[in-house]
Amino acid sequence: MSDQTTEKHTFQAEIQQLLDLVVHSLYTDKEIFLRELISNSSDAMEKLRHIEATEKDVYQPDAAMEISITTDAEAKTLTITDHGIGMTHDDLVENLGTIAHSGTKAFLKAAKEKSENPEGLIGQFGVGFYSAFMVGDKVTVTSRSWHPAGQGYVWTSDGKTGYEIEAAGDVDRGTKIVIHLTEETKEYAEEARLKGLIERYSNFVGFPILLNGNRVNEVEALWLKNKSGITDDEYKSFYQFACKAFDEPSYRLHFSADAPLAINSLVFAPSENPEAMGFGKTEPGVALYSRKVLIDPSPKELLPEWMRFMKGVIDSADIPLNISRESMQDSALIQKLGKVISKRVIKMFEKEAEGDPEKYRGFYKKFDRYFKEGVVTDFPNREALAKLLRFETSMTEPGEVCGYADYVSRMKDGQEEIYFLVGPGREQIESSPYLEAFKARGLEVIYFMDAADEYVVDSMREYDGKKIRSVTQGGVELDDQEAEGDSLSEEETKALCEFLKEEFGERVVSVSSGKRLVENPVIALVPEDAMTPQMRQMMKQMDENFKDEPKVELEINPRHALIKKLAEAKDSNPEMAKLVSNQLLDNALISAGLLDDARDTIARMNQLMEKAIGA
Ligand code: ADP
Repeated sequence: MSDQTTEKHTFQAEIQQLLDLVVHSLYTDKEIFLRELISNSSDAMEKLRHIEATEKDVYQPDAAMEISITTDAEAKTLTITDHGIGMTHDDLVENLGTIAHSGTKAFLKAAKEKSENPEGLIGQFGVGFYSAFMVGDKVTVTSRSWHPAGQGYVWTSDGKTGYEIEAAGDVDRGTKIVIHLTEETKEYAEEARLKGLIERYSNFVGFPILLNGNRVNEVEALWLKNKSGITDDEYKSFYQFACKAFDEPSYRLHFSADAPLAINSLVFAPSENPEAMGFGKTEPGVALYSRKVLIDPSPKELLPEWMRFMKGVIDSADIPLNISRESMQDSALIQKLGKVISKRVIKMFEKEAEGDPEKYRGFYKKFDRYFKEGVVTDFPNREALAKLLRFETSMTEPGEVCGYADYVSRMKDGQEEIYFLVGPGREQIESSPYLEAFKARGLEVIYFMDAADEYVVDSMREYDGKKIRSVTQGGVELDDQEAEGDSLSEEETKALCEFLKEEFGERVVSVSSGKRLVENPVIALVPEDAMTPQMRQMMKQMDENFKDEPKVELEINPRHALIKKLAEAKDSNPEMAKLVSNQLLDNALISAGLLDDARDTIARMNQLMEKAIGA
C-alpha cells in the first residue's frame, strides 16, 4: 500500500498511559485478554442480531455467527474472528484510539491512585480490547461494518505511540484481530492452553467458539433457558459438568427476574457435604456471570458465607463485566443481587422442607452446620434461617426431628417461652433432673446435642417473639402444681433454707424451695446472667488458667424424704446435717456439670460412709 492510503494516528495521552501499564502487566493477569476479546466478539454479534431484528439490511446476512480462533505456533500468532457488526473507519478511530469506555477510565483512575503498584489492577479491571497488548507486541484489526455501503479497514499498532489505518480490499463483515505474540507469551499460540482458557472463562458464551476449527464451548447456558423445557437429567448433567460436582444435586433453584435487577440464576444444593472430609472451608461455589461471560468463578462478596456449599451460576446483565474484586465489596448492585438470591434460596429450602420433610431431614443431617453458621453470622437472614433448623425434643421419638414452627404450634396455653436443654445425647438429657418439672407440666423441651447449638441459640435469643431459655436457668417461671405427698411446712422450709445458705456462704446465690422438683432432693440452677455450664467447659478447655467459681441458685424439694430428715437433723445433729448438706450441693453441681474439683467431695463421701456403716 502506498503511504497516501495509510493514515497515522497518535494515541490519546491516556491511552498511552494505559498501554504502558498493560504492556508491563503481571504474568498472572495476562490470560484474561482472551476473555475480553471473546466477549467483545460476542457483543458485536449480539448487536448484529439486534440490528437484523429491527429489519435493517445488513452486509453479508448469511455470515456464520460464530467466533473463530486460530493459532499459528510457528508464526506465533493468534487470530480471533467474528461476523458481528464490525467497525467503520470512524468507529476504529473512536473505539480503538480514544478512551471511551468506562471500565478503562476506572482502571486508569485506580492505577493513578495506586501508583506504586498499578500492575495488579489489570486482572481486576480488565482493560477490554487493549488487553491484546498484554500478550502481543503488534496487533492488527481488520474490520468491515454491517452497513451495506462501506468497506473494510485495517488498524495496526505496536501498542506504543500510535496506530495506522488503511483501507482493506475485500473483507467479510465483522472483525478479525491478529495478535503477534512475543517470545514470552508464545504459549498463547498453543491450542491446549487456549482451550483451557476458553473453557474456564467463556464456556457459556452464546455463540459457538471454534478453536482451529473445533467447537470448544459445548455447554448450553441452561440458566437462560425456560424451565419447562429442561429435564431433570439435563439439570443433573449441567450440575455435574458445569459445577464440577461428582454427586447428585439434592435441590435446585432456577429463577429469572427482570426487576429490580436482571437476574438469571440456577443454583444447586449438593447431596454430599464438601467439608465433611475435613478439608476445611470450601470456596464459594456459585459463579458470577454477566451475559454468559464469567466474571468470577467464586465470588466471596456475592452470597453470605454460609452458602458456600451451594453450587451454580448467577448471571446478571446489570453487573459490568470488568467489575473488580475490590469494588465488588462495596458495590450496591452486588449486594442487592446477593440479597435477592439468598432470600430465594432460603425460601426454596423452606418450601422443600415442607413438601418433603423426610428428604429434608436427610439433607439437614449433612448440612446442618451451614444453617447454624448462617443463624450466627447472617443477621439479615437470621429469622428465615431459624425456620430451617431441626432438632429432637421431649415430644419427638428418638431420631425424629422437628423445627421451631412445630414447637411453637404445640406450645401450651399460657406458655410464653421456648425451653431447651443441652447435653451430649438423648439419654443423658432425659435423665437430667432439670427435665422433671417441665415433663410434669407437659412443657416441651428441645434437646440440643450438637456442641454448636448453644452458640446458635445464644445468637438467636428468641424465635417468633418468644424467648428461648435453658431449663437450667434460674429465671424460668413455672406455675404452681399440686404437689403430691407431705411437705415441710412453710416455716420449716424457710428455716432450712436459711440454715443451708449460711452453711454454703458464697458458693450459692440463694437457696429456696422450688417448684421444679419431683424426684430429686435439690437442683442447682444457673443465674440468668451467668455463663452456662457448657460455655464454662469450653472456656476451661481453651484456657487452662480459666478460673471462675460457679455461682448457682439452689432449689430444695420440701417433699423429699431426705430434705425432711435434713430439716430435723439441723437441730438434732448439726454435724451430720452439715455433711449431708454439702454433699447435696456437690451432687447438684455434678448434675449441672459445674463441679470442677471433686477432692473434697470424695473425702466427705468417705466420712459419710464411715458414719453410715458405724465405723
Ligand atoms: P468495551 O468492550 O468494554 O466497550 P473495549 O476497549 O473492549 O471496551 O472496546 C471498545 C469498543 O470497541 C467496544 O465498545 C466496541 O464498540 C468496539 N469493539 C471492540 N471489539 C469489537 C468487535 N470484535 N467488533 C465490533 N466492535 C468491537
